[in-house]
Amino acid sequence: MKNNIINLAQDLIRRPSISPADQGCQQVIADRLQQLGFTLEWLPFGDTLNLWAKHGSGHPVIAFAGHTDVVPVGDETQWTYPPFEARIVDNMLYGRGAADMKGSLSALVVAAEEFVKANPNHVGTIALLITSDEEAAAKDGTVKVVETLMARGEPIHYCVVGEPSSGKVLGDVIKNGRRGSITGDLYIEGVQGHVAYPHLAENPVHTALNFLTELTTYQWDNGNEFFLPTSLQIANIKAGTGSNNVIPGELYVQFNLRYCTSVTDDIIKNKVAEMLAKHQLKHRISWNLSGKPFLAGNGQLVKAAVQAVENVTKFTPRLDTSGGTSDGRFIALMGAEIVEFGPLNATIHKVNECVNVDDLGKCGEVYYQILEYLLKS
Ligand SMILES: [Zn+2]
Repeated sequence: MKNNIINLAQDLIRRPSISPADQGCQQVIADRLQQLGFTLEWLPFGDTLNLWAKHGSGHPVIAFAGHTDVVPVGDETQWTYPPFEARIVDNMLYGRGAADMKGSLSALVVAAEEFVKANPNHVGTIALLITSDEEAAAKDGTVKVVETLMARGEPIHYCVVGEPSSGKVLGDVIKNGRRGSITGDLYIEGVQGHVAYPHLAENPVHTALNFLTELTTYQWDNGNEFFLPTSLQIANIKAGTGSNNVIPGELYVQFNLRYCTSVTDDIIKNKVAEMLAKHQLKHRISWNLSGKPFLAGNGQLVKAAVQAVENVTKFTPRLDTSGGTSDGRFIALMGAEIVEFGPLNATIHKVNECVNVDDLGKCGEVYYQILEYLLKS
């Protein structure tokens, strides 16, 4: 299995698919899956290519999710080995996307192939959901595929996202959920005027101070078994004309919350509205919800993933919900149980991105065993 994974990963890395380009990666995967009897569906949206491939039928539907796009390489001269050459040195495969996530995507594909070869009459459905828009806007990728599937009433029950979840060693962390992310764009309105005539103006920086203190010190919750407490950070703040004799007419504050399942986006919005009312601030506010929190808890898929990781790596993985968002947030809208498992994330998005060759082989074995656990007849 390992050599098969490495060969595919090298083929994919040699295609410079800077987000949202795909550069033929999905066609390579599609051709392989089609030969094994997978049915293919192309779901392109805008400049994004999406592939939905299925084998088998009925319940349960387990989807492997991944992306073929990569982030830009930055200053190419900083790389020890060219970023699209896919060179292996001392058992490490180098290249943009090696760890995030052409390596684990190859492991997902090969694991699905091998499982189907060994179990052509498996129960349920194996699906692959592959997009070329995860790293950039994530507007026409997984989110659109999920909308399409939901409109048809087509379910996903379990989903393994191959994002690099491991910290220090392969298998030390499985992500069994993610925090939600919501951003508030708040404009506090005042009255602009001359600093020498403050009675004719109203300074929104001054009127907002008590509110901002309350906003930034409020304890939203205490977290819970699987989540850190919700946290709020002011990301941007701006007021003033640049002149030292003008009282600003408006204060702009942008804040973001990473929130756990102890609160909801509605609770957050209502609480902020209550604080604004309490401090009698004239304002406008708009909200942008990037993703609700989701949690697989300790369901069947989590059990399968933990067991598989223990078998293959001899480590008992820690279940963790930290980190940024991933495409899992969209698939969670389908009610699917989601885990993220993949190689070390130490070099992702960096110069000299690389992944251990043996780790990719082990990822493939973990993915294979998850299928066995959930789908073997
Ligand atoms: Zn990724």
